[in-house]
Amino acid sequence: MDEILRDDNQDMNDDMSGMLMDERLKKPLYDLEHHWLAEYMEARERLLCTLTEKMHAEFLSDQTKIRNELLAQFKDELETTKKDLEKKYEDQLKSEVTKVGERHKRDTSQAKKKQWCWQCESEAIYHCCWNTAYCSVECQQSHWNSHRKFCRRRNKGGENGPGPAGAPLNQQ
Ligand SMILES: [Zn+2]
Ligand SMILES: [Zn+2]
Repeated sequence: MDEILRDDNQDMNDDMSGMLMDERLKKPLYDLEHHWLAEYMEARERLLCTLTEKMHAEFLSDQTKIRNELLAQFKDELETTKKDLEKKYEDQLKSEVTKVGERHKRDTSQAKKKQWCWQCESEAIYHCCWNTAYCSVECQQSHWNSHRKFCRRRNKGGENGPGPAGAPLNQQ
């Protein structure tokens, strides 16, 4: 029985000291709790900052990557378009040059076949004599005064003036 009482007393003492301890520690514990809370908040804040910065950096690097890819793609397309256009224009130029060359050849050979009026430089349709042709009887008559001295038809009876125009060219 004594034993039990003593034990009870002891317990009581323990309780008392526990309560006292509690009172004494309450403030530091409170402070500590606040300190930890503050540290936790700070750490959380720092972590959030770091995360935000990391995400921002990733975003920027992604943006840069995407931009570079787009730029590269754009450059490729531009290069291809440029080459296509150059090829197209080169082909066009070649065919243009060929056409012009052919036309020039045709015109030249046609011009060589043609004879020109001595008087007015139109295309001649009447031939008088060597190297002398006219577009019309009027041109032949206007030229006759100077031409009569040289006309190779003269000896064949052209003496008396600009007789009939020579045979039309297409009948020669
Ligand atoms: Zn003429
Ligand atoms: Zn003549």
